[in-house]
Amino acid sequence: MQAGGYHLRQSPFRTGLACRCPRCGRGRLFTGFLTLRATCPVCSLDYSKADTGDGPAVLIILLLGALVVPMALVLEAQAGPPFWVHVLIWPPLILGGALGLLRPMKAVMVALQFRHKAGA
Ligand SMILES: [Zn+2]
Repeated sequence: MQAGGYHLRQSPFRTGLACRCPRCGRGRLFTGFLTLRATCPVCSLDYSKADTGDGPAVLIILLLGALVVPMALVLEAQAGPPFWVHVLIWPPLILGGALGLLRPMKAVMVALQFRHKAGA
């Protein structure tokens, strides 16, 4: 299928996880940590319509919460470690997970909006 002169339809998840342009799959999407470029440096796709709002943060909260809370409960039930063990394990995991997931999650949502022509 041909879309905008590009023969291959890019997977929103492949381009998103690589933080690349959803149309050509080559141009970098971000200029800062979470700041989108105005346009794609390779294919000039306009990124200005992309608006993910709080979507990525909400997904990450749900995902990390669903993973970390059961793990903490299992650790407590199985091993009953001192409280400082929990303090040592979970905050870095949550912080690192959230920061690590924000960029790819936002890029995937931008790519999904492009794929489904949201805002067009
Ligand atoms: Zn592009």
